[in-house]
Amino acid sequence: MANLSISQRFKLNAFFLLLGLLFLNNQKPNKHSWGFVGHERINEFAIYLLPSKLQAFFIQHLPYIVSQSVAPDKRRYISEIEAPRHYIDLDHYYVLGQDPFWNLPQNWQEAVDCHSEDTLQAYGIVPWHVIHMKYRLQKAFEQKDLTRTLKYAAEIGHYIADAHVPLHTTENYNGQFTNQLGIHGLWESRLVEIEADNFNFWIGPAQYLPSVQKAIWSVIHSSHAALDSVFKLETLVSAQILASQKYSYEYRGSTLTKVYSREFCNKYHHALNGMVERRMRAAILMVSSVWYTAWVDAGQPNLKEFQISNYENLESQDLDSTRKANSRWKQRSCH
Ligand SMILES: [Zn+2]
Repeated sequence: MANLSISQRFKLNAFFLLLGLLFLNNQKPNKHSWGFVGHERINEFAIYLLPSKLQAFFIQHLPYIVSQSVAPDKRRYISEIEAPRHYIDLDHYYVLGQDPFWNLPQNWQEAVDCHSEDTLQAYGIVPWHVIHMKYRLQKAFEQKDLTRTLKYAAEIGHYIADAHVPLHTTENYNGQFTNQLGIHGLWESRLVEIEADNFNFWIGPAQYLPSVQKAIWSVIHSSHAALDSVFKLETLVSAQILASQKYSYEYRGSTLTKVYSREFCNKYHHALNGMVERRMRAAILMVSSVWYTAWVDAGQPNLKEFQISNYENLESQDLDSTRKANSRWKQRSCH
């Protein structure tokens, strides 16, 4: 696009935007992917909060950024190192009444020193993985590497979105210890499926984050603080509705599936007082802000000079660069 006039560029961007919107229309949740709609919307709307230069770049690749927002979840079934990147079981690190974060360093190396890497991996690493991914994204921007930039931008959006879900911060992630089995899908998929068309996703512009580490741990704090309401209100609303009306059956494609009824979902959504919408809005702002921060920290490279790179060995190279970054972090004894 180097030799195009401003009006030609505008037309080209408008064309890509139209292409993206057409793609999205065809990607509306279907019988197989409705559970992914939250991730897709978060990545899509994060693009609209970016400053114009960066937004034009992302809009050209909007179909990829949106469709790859769910790539990490698909990878969970084929890679055992993938699963812990999506959650953190904070309750493993404290007993009730204690500060959940007192014994949990935010810095990866310090946390490893305190609890061992095996333990961290066993109970989830989402906040640390977001920091690793920001580092990778920044490097990709620095190297003007189009392939990696798009891949890491799309995927960090997924992990940041997961960190905003209260149920991604507890061992009781699906209500299995409190007789609330299914609450995970209820909160993050079913409510989004039913209510998201009424959500307001127009949020202020992306902000530069002086510390992504502080920002993501603050997200984990607020997610975990909301957990109590997620469980208590489900119990409360369940008590207000006949057991026979809590569930209904809907077709997913040709399969009749048991789902939480719309009546129950509406009551629960109102009891939560907009919590799902608030968490989605916060996720959109943070995804956009982290993309923007990574680009700024990379020295604001010229986005017209980005080149497609070799995709082979991407994962192993990423692991090496992460190890190098980790080894630079200073060590500290823990509580
Ligand atoms: Zn996930």
